[in-house]
Amino acid sequence: MEFDLSWILLGLPVAFALGWIASRLDLRQLRIENRQAPKAYFKGLNYLLNEQQDQAIDAFIEAVQKDPDTSELHFALGNLFRRRGEYERAVRVHEHLLSRADLSQKDRDRAQHALAQDFLKAGLLDRAEDALRKLDGTRYQEQAWLTLLSLHERARDWAQAAAIAGRLQTAGQADFSARQAHYLCEQAADALNKKHDPSKARQLLQQAIDQSPGAARPRIQLAGLLAGHDDWHGAFEQLAKLEHHAPQAMPLVASELVRIGHASGQLARGRQLLERSYALTPAVDVADALVQADVSAGVPLSEAREGYVRHMTQEPSLIAAGRWLSHEPFAKEGAHPAVQRSIEHAARPLARYRCAACGFEAQGYFWQCPGCQAWESFPPRRIEEL
Ligand SMILES: [Zn+2]
Repeated sequence: MEFDLSWILLGLPVAFALGWIASRLDLRQLRIENRQAPKAYFKGLNYLLNEQQDQAIDAFIEAVQKDPDTSELHFALGNLFRRRGEYERAVRVHEHLLSRADLSQKDRDRAQHALAQDFLKAGLLDRAEDALRKLDGTRYQEQAWLTLLSLHERARDWAQAAAIAGRLQTAGQADFSARQAHYLCEQAADALNKKHDPSKARQLLQQAIDQSPGAARPRIQLAGLLAGHDDWHGAFEQLAKLEHHAPQAMPLVASELVRIGHASGQLARGRQLLERSYALTPAVDVADALVQADVSAGVPLSEAREGYVRHMTQEPSLIAAGRWLSHEPFAKEGAHPAVQRSIEHAARPLARYRCAACGFEAQGYFWQCPGCQAWESFPPRRIEEL
């Protein structure tokens, strides 16, 4: 490849000349700004560049006192400190802004909002809550409510969470009715387990059912409560209603349906219900419950377990294979435990539930994901079936 050197020889002086002119223009601009801006800015900036944050902030505060229109600088500084994890300083900046009498209402709200962020990031949740509550009536109101909602959820203060969700619902933010049902269920669980007040728990669950007829959890929880008090018939009715109101939840209660159906003398009805559910969605938990129902009805296990084979012809399933194998007589009897153990080991991760929002996996089903705090983000099916 050949270069034309004459272009470079010509071009270099031109580039130098252009650069020189540009630098003169920059200097002139800087001199004009220098005359206009208070010295305290540059002092502050210098301190900041030298990582002397305390002196820098003092210089900036001085600059602001001399020039009341520099609230923008304060906001920038406050955000900077928060982002650096220097929450105490961020709070100082924002509290200073709030203490100023000349601040516009708009900037006052903005400072209040920034202060709430400082407390949140610093983990001072009580103070964050106070700061957020002061944002009522401002343009940050709904954002503040959403943050308060997650704070109350984290603190498991369900009554407060319900109050905020109600306000958000009225403000037309989104539909919070499903979440309200969870709050009532949580309160019911607290009433039952902490306060030993089953009638209060029952009343809360009934309220949840009335408010959200399509929610599965209140009916499942109510069935558990009734079964715990030997009201087998009432418990069975609650689970049976899921077929119409929340059919997707049937795999979660399939085994319980057999147990309660057996205790209430309605095993045959329970089995029919499971068959209908299985015809719609062949879930492995429902297949398993059908085998249990047959065994409960007196069918010999060697016959009943054919239900697992039926399931495997529909859906290949290591979980079903393991269950079927556990009762299969082996020609080589000694090999059975090792093979059985291997299949179970391979099937165990497949039998977990997985959050669709964050991927968190758990052996048991969660209504609220412990990983990402989302509600009902776990599909009611095992990982193998997803
Ligand atoms: Zn999650």
